[in-house]
Amino acid sequence: MTENGREVKQMLLAGDIGGTKTLLGLFDPLPVRPRAIRVASFVTVDHADLTDMVAAFLADGDCPASGIQTACFGVAGPVIGDSAELTNVPWRVDARRVASRFGFNRVSLLNDLQAMAWAVPVLQESEVHPLQHGEPMRGGNIALIAAGTGLGEALLHSVDGRFIPSPSEGGHADFAARTEREIALVRDLTARYGRADVEHVVSGLGLKNVHRVAHTTPCAAGIDLSHADAPAHITAAALTKQCAGCIETVDLFVEAYGAEAGNLALRTVATGGVFVGGGIAPKILPALETGSFMRAFRAKPPLDALLAAMPVNVILNADAGLLGAAVFAASHTSA
Ligand SMILES: [Zn+2]
Repeated sequence: MTENGREVKQMLLAGDIGGTKTLLGLFDPLPVRPRAIRVASFVTVDHADLTDMVAAFLADGDCPASGIQTACFGVAGPVIGDSAELTNVPWRVDARRVASRFGFNRVSLLNDLQAMAWAVPVLQESEVHPLQHGEPMRGGNIALIAAGTGLGEALLHSVDGRFIPSPSEGGHADFAARTEREIALVRDLTARYGRADVEHVVSGLGLKNVHRVAHTTPCAAGIDLSHADAPAHITAAALTKQCAGCIETVDLFVEAYGAEAGNLALRTVATGGVFVGGGIAPKILPALETGSFMRAFRAKPPLDALLAAMPVNVILNADAGLLGAAVFAASHTSA
């Protein structure tokens, strides 16, 4: 394509829109794995809406919108038709407004975990960390679980040699307690929220909930649960052994995370592998490697042998959601 007599390079625009932070990226639409040309991070609520943010991004990089025909955004909130609202932030994402403002042919919105799922098949070995090698089965499904601010789950359904990512609201399914200390946690969560869902335990919010129950004496690390970074403070205090209550918190969290990853693996028959994404796992790798995560994952007789054969990997690439949105956009670009 040319504009004013000069060749305009074809690119695609991808985004990972979160309640706190949004990543936007321009990609070279290579088949299989698009290559990032420029990525920028924005504080989501600093902009009135997505069109405003995209305009700022394109202006800053002196990038003509005419070089972009396709865009895809992963959104941390339910996507209904061509629009989505972010959970907990008064921000609306409207695909048609973005398309008409910039003249893009196609703008797609995906649930954020669905977007991350599109990245999973193209991840390289250096971008994952194995917790269990297992033996991937050809034609098997892949499951994705990701604890960050909340808990997301997705299925990559294996159909005729391709993976078709499918969203899920599994993070809001009921939390299944397996031990006395988890039963005590369910009692506390039920009194607090009326019910205990998995996200109440396996997420940043979950770390705060578990911290509250695990401390019968004041926290030796002095963690303030009202602080925005409290979950990161809790995991840091546990890993540096500053406080017995924080160690207990992360211990319970890791077991519950492994158990839920195993539940998801059973529900999806994830013989192709299980991927653990999200912001928390890479920060607590030593705690995930003590064995309690994988023991809880496998402890589901009579299907423990099936679970023991599934490869389980932590995703280390912090931009996997953005990459997945680009993979989706590239695979849906009309030639
Ligand atoms: Zn503590």
